[in-house]
Amino acid sequence: MLLEVENLHVTFTTGDGDVNAVNGVNFAIDKGETLAIVGESGSGKSQTAFAAMGLLAKNGRATGEARFDGKNLLAMNQRALNKIRSQDIAMIFQDPMTSLNPYLRISDQMAEVLMLHKGMGKSAAIAESARMLDAVRIPDARARITMFPHEFSGGMRQRIMIAMALLCQPRLLIADEPTTALDVTVQAQIMQVLSDIRSDFGAAVILITHDLGVVAGFCDRTLVMYGGQIMEEGPTDDLFASPSHPYTSGLLRAVPRLDRDDAKLATIAGEPPDMSRLPAGCPFSPRCAQALDNCRTDKPMLEKIKTRRRACHLPIAEVA
Ligand code: SF4
Repeated sequence: MLLEVENLHVTFTTGDGDVNAVNGVNFAIDKGETLAIVGESGSGKSQTAFAAMGLLAKNGRATGEARFDGKNLLAMNQRALNKIRSQDIAMIFQDPMTSLNPYLRISDQMAEVLMLHKGMGKSAAIAESARMLDAVRIPDARARITMFPHEFSGGMRQRIMIAMALLCQPRLLIADEPTTALDVTVQAQIMQVLSDIRSDFGAAVILITHDLGVVAGFCDRTLVMYGGQIMEEGPTDDLFASPSHPYTSGLLRAVPRLDRDDAKLATIAGEPPDMSRLPAGCPFSPRCAQALDNCRTDKPMLEKIKTRRRACHLPIAEVA
């Protein structure tokens, strides 16, 4: 396995007490695989990735293990972690403008990465950067590489971020809501770029998103999180065709579909949980229309059933 996360817990210390953002998460991703981590805001999906990358906010702490190539990232010193982050694992974020320097030309920003981490000379670094812009389908990349970030559209800026992330040829790319700020057409183009990257560069991809709609057709497996815990995991096609958890089922009903003539889009009633006061039993129990008596008191264990894992007391056949 390329990355194995085991019993990951993330806690933030706040003025109102501890907030348990991630509560005992286990998963793995292999070389060249694509894994979606899906859930509403506050489900713990982004903090799971941030913890593994050593990017938690100052008031956060992580326990458990996140083994990359067998080495626990959570136990590494800063220097070793920086080396892995610069060469083997790369991250792209929702808003490229917060990651790109508005005062520097794209050529300077990209070339700097290669000069710093690969020891390249400036002209070779710029040529390689232009090749990467080409790879993410920036038209006329060689001429446009000298432009500033504000001269590109939002979709093009996101492509530039993906090209930057690929410069050191990482083996794992973590994309945190990479299409959220974009319109639907551009979203589809960015997902196509990410898909091409997998075949062209062989990188494994973890896609973190609240939108199950962008996952279909792209990810091999999907992991659904709620309340900092895994609710369900399985091959994406199977999970879409027959969700085995009421929360997954609710998320899928909330995805707009062209083949259904729904007058009104379904929503999951209620609010995501307060992570400092999670219910004693299933974290989804206050919102679950199918909750049983014991759901409020007994926490369901994550159990493996054939190719799936699920945490729910309700028999699979009864999931609506
Ligand atoms: Fe609903 Fe109970 Fe299953 Fe939780 S364990 S999702 S409350 S049925």
